[in-house]
Amino acid sequence: MKVAFFDTKPYDKPSFEEFGGKQGVTFKYFETKLNEDTADLARGCDAVCVFVNDTVDAAVIDRLSELGVKVVALRCAGFNNVDMKHAYGKVHVLHVPAYSPYAVAEHTMALLLTSVRRIHKAYIRSKDFNFSLSGLTGFDLYGKTVGVIGTGRIGRVFIDICRGFGMNVLAYDKFPAPGLDNGDTVRYTDLDELFAKSDIISLHCPLTDETHHIIDEAALEKCKRGVVLLNTSRGALVDAEALLNGIKSRKVGAACLDVYEEESDLFFEDNSGHIMEDDTLARLISMPNVIVTSHQAFLTEEALMNIAETTVQNLKDFFEKNRCENELCWRGGTTETCRDGKCF
Ligand code: NAD
Repeated sequence: MKVAFFDTKPYDKPSFEEFGGKQGVTFKYFETKLNEDTADLARGCDAVCVFVNDTVDAAVIDRLSELGVKVVALRCAGFNNVDMKHAYGKVHVLHVPAYSPYAVAEHTMALLLTSVRRIHKAYIRSKDFNFSLSGLTGFDLYGKTVGVIGTGRIGRVFIDICRGFGMNVLAYDKFPAPGLDNGDTVRYTDLDELFAKSDIISLHCPLTDETHHIIDEAALEKCKRGVVLLNTSRGALVDAEALLNGIKSRKVGAACLDVYEEESDLFFEDNSGHIMEDDTLARLISMPNVIVTSHQAFLTEEALMNIAETTVQNLKDFFEKNRCENELCWRGGTTETCRDGKCF
């Protein structure tokens, strides 16, 4: 089986070579992202393997289908970059639903601690033998209220970590997790109460039409003054312009972003020698209370191994057993895990 692997980074290859080699799956690596201009590179391949910033829109799906490519194997959980409706009946879409919720949840807490204890400032100061403490005053997380939007795999691990710090949790989810609400330290509520009472808000829901800009000007208006916003989920959950205005007006006390709405042409690449064209991102990064990492929350050794193992297994199951439990299917107007094996 031959698979065109797009948006290849050096850290991808060792794990995919290991698991692909064991299972007889040959990867053809391309550094370029998949888009309408590069889809032809998949000629002669049975599948393409793509990541979060590859484009799998209608034009790409049609081209892949014409080339005889049967499968789009996402090496990530989110599928917001795939036109699932258009894919139905043309290409099968497989994903990796979970590879390490710990990786993302721990990175979220790392960002929060960095921000509220000013570690990013202290690190640079001490490198310059500047041991002054002025301006480094933080606040205790103990006793604070964290609002968690999305209580799936990652959200729940993050809640556990926050509980370890003695924080109280207000949770919001369209489909609440049974048994999570203890009526006391972890409580489901609506978005209005979550916005009004949270000292910290962390986003762990997928990007959908419903959640697009879930944090916008109106939402920030409802928040506490000084709220700390964490986004390690998907960039477009946050209206970046509204966030920048919130930072400028001091409504938002700090923001930690591992994702950004317009990240696809910037993140994962070294842009240090280039003029930054995105004024909003440049302005956000220039703020002392904004920390940006470039979609790195997933990047642990454990997650990389799990991603490769599951992706290779997905491909094997699909092509050899005619059934893959991680196939996504657009049917009846929503995308769900395919309930009955192959979805068409
Ligand atoms: P999950 O599917 O286990 O959980 C998502 C939760 O969001 C579910 O409980 C679901 O009911 C809830 N949800 C769905 N629609 C909602 C809505 N309209 N409002 C509120 N909640 C809603 O997914 P997960 O594994 O926990 O991952 C969460 C997100 O994290 C992914 O969608 C992905 O975007 C992001 N992610 C980021 C990285 C990274 O490196 N930064 C890595 C992996 C995943």
